[in-house]
Amino acid sequence: MNRVRLLLLNAALGPLDYKVPDNMQVEYGSIVVAPLGPREIIGIVWEPDFFDVEEAPAEKLRPIREVLDVPPLEAELRRLIEWTADYYLASMAAVTRMTLSSSAALRGSLTITEYRLTGEMPKRMTPQREKVFDRLQGEQATVRELAEMADVSDGVIRGLVNAGLMEAVSVNADRPYPLPDPDFAPPQLSDTQENVATTMRTAVQEDDFRPFLLDGVTGSGKTEVYFEAVAEALRQGKQVLVLLPEIALTQPFLKRFEARFGTPPVCWHSGLKQAERRRAWRAIAKGRARAVVGARSSLFLPYENLGLIIVDEAHETSFKQEDGVRYNARDVAVMRAQFEKFPVILASATPAIESRHMAQLGRYELLELPSRFGDATLPELKAIDLTEHPPERGKWIAPPLIEALEETLEKGEQSLLFLNRRGFAPLTLCRTCGHRFQCPNCTAWMVEHRLVARLACHHCGHVMPPPEACPECGEADCLVACGPGVERIGDEVATLFPDARAAIITSDTIWSPEKAAQFVADVENGAVDIIIGTQLVTKGYHFPNLTLVGVVDADIGLEGGDLRAAERSFQQIAQVSGRAGRAEKPGRVFVQTRSPGAPVIDALVKGDREAFYIAETESRHHAGVPPFGRLAAIIISSEDNQEALETARAIGGSAPTADGLYIYGPAPAPLAMLRGRHRHRLLVHAGRSVEMQKIIREWLSKLDWPRSVRVAVDVDPYSFV
Ligand code: ADP
Ligand code: ZN
Repeated sequence: MNRVRLLLLNAALGPLDYKVPDNMQVEYGSIVVAPLGPREIIGIVWEPDFFDVEEAPAEKLRPIREVLDVPPLEAELRRLIEWTADYYLASMAAVTRMTLSSSAALRGSLTITEYRLTGEMPKRMTPQREKVFDRLQGEQATVRELAEMADVSDGVIRGLVNAGLMEAVSVNADRPYPLPDPDFAPPQLSDTQENVATTMRTAVQEDDFRPFLLDGVTGSGKTEVYFEAVAEALRQGKQVLVLLPEIALTQPFLKRFEARFGTPPVCWHSGLKQAERRRAWRAIAKGRARAVVGARSSLFLPYENLGLIIVDEAHETSFKQEDGVRYNARDVAVMRAQFEKFPVILASATPAIESRHMAQLGRYELLELPSRFGDATLPELKAIDLTEHPPERGKWIAPPLIEALEETLEKGEQSLLFLNRRGFAPLTLCRTCGHRFQCPNCTAWMVEHRLVARLACHHCGHVMPPPEACPECGEADCLVACGPGVERIGDEVATLFPDARAAIITSDTIWSPEKAAQFVADVENGAVDIIIGTQLVTKGYHFPNLTLVGVVDADIGLEGGDLRAAERSFQQIAQVSGRAGRAEKPGRVFVQTRSPGAPVIDALVKGDREAFYIAETESRHHAGVPPFGRLAAIIISSEDNQEALETARAIGGSAPTADGLYIYGPAPAPLAMLRGRHRHRLLVHAGRSVEMQKIIREWLSKLDWPRSVRVAVDVDPYSFV
């Protein structure tokens, strides 16, 4: 090749043509550095015909500067990038940035300088330094990262380095990871488990696209069984990726993986430090990271030799990215397996209706583990009718649940109370004038977080101290909390059982993998009697001594009523129930509700999962919504409401017509303001045979709007706010 077309990592630029100097070797997929005006940019050599752009004349071409010392992106990955951009109406640049997500890995030196405390104490202690000595014991990272961890400026860290209180450590960014051993500690599988494992192993050996839905009740050994597929891929010399929905789940997973394979897998998530990121990225690209566990962002990495993807807890909606490229990692994982021809396993105890539907159509192979492993049984689930057994005034735990908590405490066993609401109370108002505290940037209430004495907006992160007086009427000490959050349940538990040791588990208390590990250790060591948690505690964890689960309010999930509200409630309650009685001791589950007859609750109480799925699938079918029809949301936002409104109207006014295509709106979004931007929405509803993305792309490409207006298309949306 003596000339190339580059895909650039900046959507505004489009592809550009360059000359290849005589002494330089490039191929499709090569990652190169090229001049752009006075700057340099990174680009990927792409098939020129893919872009519908005129060729630049040869005499105008500037030469490429350098081919980076990383493997070229393979053709299959380039096709996946193209497919993702096309399907989700995203820019190629934005998708490719997810692949090249570590600039440190592409360039930069082989060693990174990190710093750590020497152990010597300073003569002069400042509040800033105190924070450092408080928070950075045992930590080692770059100046920037340390400053962030300690919440101080870079200067404070540098000052400590200059004073000799911190020392430099040179880290080799490419030191290899230990290799997992497929035969380190294989389990003795039950017959049912063995059958499923054999099917998976065979699929891995065949080395062809084969999507599986692994549907097994909580505690049936799904992880244990899919580890057999992982082992087989490792034996074949292939790389494996396990996608997890939540960083908080990583730590217990790492331990389990290590117990089975002798060494933990390579981790990939947004919280990685620069050196770890570079090391992981390069090891992945060079095939040296054999087993990778990660959040959804690990899906687009340039694996050298990927042979298996597992999507664990595949029903989780956090696989859907809600900003930037709005893709669903579960679905793109299947596409990646298809492009690169290997098996993919979606594992869940409560599969998404979409996944079940694919299995019913025969597109996915269904593998089932219908009962718990060993002697463990599924817990018995009872509804507590709150209209019959109301809690005391201003309290939230009903007498039958209190009794069960008491019994569990007496037996020395553990309980879990689930309420999917962070903070103390979802709404705070003034007793005198009724003023409600609202976020200045969002259409949302400020949520009281009593543990840190703040009001916080859960949408934009805005915080304020609780005011001493009402800003509306000036009345002092007038605030009343309305409704419960986990912190308030924590207070109630403390009053009911002053001697019990309780732990509140939310993203506010578990913000890092280390915190999650500490929590797991505390529960395992019996240092916690009652866990009070949000959705964070519903999945993954395996605590043998946990025998009671109480769902504080089963009805909140059904409020608001979007497309998946019933499904999500069902999944959440089934998952949290699944934490009870996972070992020898049987578990009990109490679900507090005001409508025990609701189909979701009824199916759960009767243990009749199929009844719920069949009814829910039928109603989706009837409404022609996913998986039987297609949806896309168009969200128009601007800091200026008039501008957003006008753009929304212009888009709505030029809506195309086609058979089987319905377009609703524009209407103000339920979350009419978010982070200071006014929002309007349109909803596109299409039959399965309609080429929805193509229609939307052509429709929007004919329109113009001010630069300050953002128009985002959300294909297969999960959020309807
Ligand atoms: P799931 O992922 O379906 O919830 P897990 O794989 O976590 O189930 O298994 C539940 C518990 O049972 C775990 O503690 C696991 O180690 C144990 N277990 C499952 N299968 C086996 C087996 N074949 N041998 C030993 N322990 C097993
Ligand atoms: Zn806000």
